[in-house]
Formats: sequence, structure tokens, C-alpha cells
Amino acid sequence: MLSYTDARQKVIEVAGSIPRPLLRAQVEIEQAFGRILAEPVLADRDYPPFDRSTRDGFAVRSADAQDPGAHLECVGELRAGGRFEAPVLPGQCVEIMTGAGVPQGADAVVMIEHTKREGRTITLERAAQKGDHIVLRGSEARTGTLLVAPKTRLGYAEMALAAQAGATRLDVFAAPRLAILSTGDEVVDARSKPGPLQVRNSNGISIEILASTAGAETVQLGNAPDEISALRAAIERGLEQDVLVLSGGVSMGKYDLVEQVLADLGAEFHFTGVSIRPGRPAVFGICRNKLVFGLPGNPVSTMVTFELFVLPAVDVLSGAIPRPLPIFRAKLATPVREKGPVTHFLPARIEWEGREARVTQLPWQGSGDIVALALANGFLIVAPDRPEIAPGEWVDVLPRRGAI
Ligand code: AMP
Ligand code: MG
Repeated sequence: MLSYTDARQKVIEVAGSIPRPLLRAQVEIEQAFGRILAEPVLADRDYPPFDRSTRDGFAVRSADAQDPGAHLECVGELRAGGRFEAPVLPGQCVEIMTGAGVPQGADAVVMIEHTKREGRTITLERAAQKGDHIVLRGSEARTGTLLVAPKTRLGYAEMALAAQAGATRLDVFAAPRLAILSTGDEVVDARSKPGPLQVRNSNGISIEILASTAGAETVQLGNAPDEISALRAAIERGLEQDVLVLSGGVSMGKYDLVEQVLADLGAEFHFTGVSIRPGRPAVFGICRNKLVFGLPGNPVSTMVTFELFVLPAVDVLSGAIPRPLPIFRAKLATPVREKGPVTHFLPARIEWEGREARVTQLPWQGSGDIVALALANGFLIVAPDRPEIAPGEWVDVLPRRGAI
């Protein structure tokens, strides 16, 4: 059975290989957060567009400012956006504000804190070197150079950069469309009152949020019963979208029919199990040229397997470079005794003590226990066949998306 890292790799490889045109859309910059850029954003002019002072102080000729105690004559004032026509001559300086263009002749700025003023005479308390507190024109980017590359996910910094360059309408890739189909005779809509042995559909909402925050557009198909013809009809509707994500019906039970129905529809499976817990029965394949995921129905399994396997597929279909899992190390606070030949993802609480992350496994009743997962802000990852882990050891943790 595949390790979770190999299974992820497989998803990335297969998602990248299906023939599917990457459609484009144009969006106003305010609507572009999280979208994937399709066309490069180029520098419309040099950045900075002029030699810019980064301090309030005096623009000087550095040759005049080699020794502390030098006296200079202040011949004018430059505010941000203002122009100073005459060049600064030897022995002169110009009072300058942060963001103003350094006047001709000057090649350094002395901070106001390091000067004394008496009338027009400025005494420098420190020496200045050429270039001090000046960012030279074009030193951040030259006209025409690449500012934001295609395939980049637009976050606030990329968007600010696009705004700076006047790119307020952006070419992005169209979001992939992801169908969500829950299965199970016992599952009822979250808005209805369940019978004593029924459960409300919680996977619909967790998948919806995971998918939409990942950048997909979602199509809710509700719940299909554990019955071949109804399940088949619902799956066929799901296959109209770019990705179909099913939950439930992929285990060994007599009424776990998802794999069978997919096989009848001609699916090619790339895996039908992954060496993890929770989430071991996760299924991934291609059916009618669409990606299909059969996630186990237990809610924690559904969420973990979505995070591990569906998210990279959404990234690839979005035109993005798949994001790595944001795993980091934390110091274990309490002993962990999980055994078995699988990688465990255990609901856990990650806290910081100073700069050190500490992780505590939370008590839970297994993969149906959303009560525990909601108290957790991450997962403690335990490698296969790892002997008991003692407090104080460094372990891998995966933050729960949005919780940290
Ligand atoms: P399955 O994967 O179909 O064997 O389901 C495993 C467990 O998850 C069962 O206890 C189901 O009742 C539960 N389950 C399946 N689908 C959902 C769902 N959409 N929402 C909440 N629980 C579910
Ligand atoms: Mg079921």
C-alpha cells in the first residue's frame, strides 16, 4: 500500500497529465485574492521610479559629509512628491522627507536625528557614506521586468505589487469545479432532523470549505444512498465537473459500493488505499477523464484525506504549483503509543512556549470524532512502526487548515 507521500505524488502526476485546457478569466484586483495568475505582471516603470529617500533628514553630497561635525548650508526643502530644480552644490544640503526624490548632486541622506540646525546651518553629527538611506531608481525592478510570474497564487504581497504597477485587472486561471457527493443510507441533510439511527451530513460542509478555500468552485450533489443505480446516477452527475469527491462507501462493507460503481463506469484506479490512519481506504482514479476521489466517510478521515490528497489536485487543476504540506516540528508534551504499519494523523493541540512549539495528543474516539477534531488545531504525525514516543522528543505536526 502506498505511503501518503507517494499517494500525494501520484495525485500530482495524474492531475497534471489529464488532457484539460486551462481556461482563463479576468478579474478586478479586489476579487483576485487566492487566484492563480495566468499572465505575467510586468514592471510598467522602474521601481523605485526615482532615487528615493528612506528617511526624514538632509540630502547631502557624501564628499561633504566624511567627518562628523561638518557644517552645511541648507538651501531648501523637499517633501514627498515635490521637485527641487537646482542641483545641490558643494557645501550645501536640502532638507528631505521620506519618500521624496533625492535632488541632483546629492548622493546620501543624513537622518534628522543625527543633525543639529541653527538657522540655515546644519551640523552633521555623523559621517555619511554615498548611498546612505537612498534606494536607487530601478534597484527593486527595471521597466519591463517580471514582477509576478504566471502560476503564482495571488496573496496580499503579490496583489500590492500588481497594484503598484497599475495592473488592476488581472488574468487568472478559471477555478476548477469540484463536485461533492456524500454517500450512505443513514446520512441525512444537515438541515433535517435525523432519525435515531441516522446521522447528519457533515462531510458536505467540511469538503465545501476545504475545497473553496483551496481555490475550487464547488457543486453540492447532496447524498446518495448505498444502492447501485441511484449512486451511479449521482456519480455520473459528478463526473460533469473537473473533480468528483465522494465521501463514504469505500470500505470493505457489503454496502460500500463506490469502487464498484466507478469501475462499472470505466474508472482507472491509481490507488485504492493508503497506508495512513485515519483514511486508509481512500480511493483515487480517473473516470471519463475526470479526477475522482472516494474518501472514507468517517468525518475525520474525510478531512485528513482531503487535505492530503485532494488539495494538491485542486492546486494542479488551478494551474498552480502544488503547495507542500506545512509540516513542522514540535516538542511532544505527553507520551504517544500509536503502533502499526501506517502513518498516524492524530488530533492534537499545538501551543507555543516562547519560540518552541509543544504538541499534545487529544483523547479521541477514532475517525468519527469531530468533537475531538474541533478542539484540535493540528495533527501529530506518527511514522509507521514507531516505538513509543517519549515526552520531550521532537515530532512532526501538521496544522489544521485555518486553525493556526
Ligand atoms: P463509510 O465510509 O461509508 O463506511 O462511513 C463511515 C462512517 O462515517 C459511518 O459511521 C457513517 O455514518 C459516517 N459518515 C459517512 N458519510 C458521512 C457524512 N457525509 N457525514 C457524516 N458522517 C458520515
Ligand atoms: Mg457508508
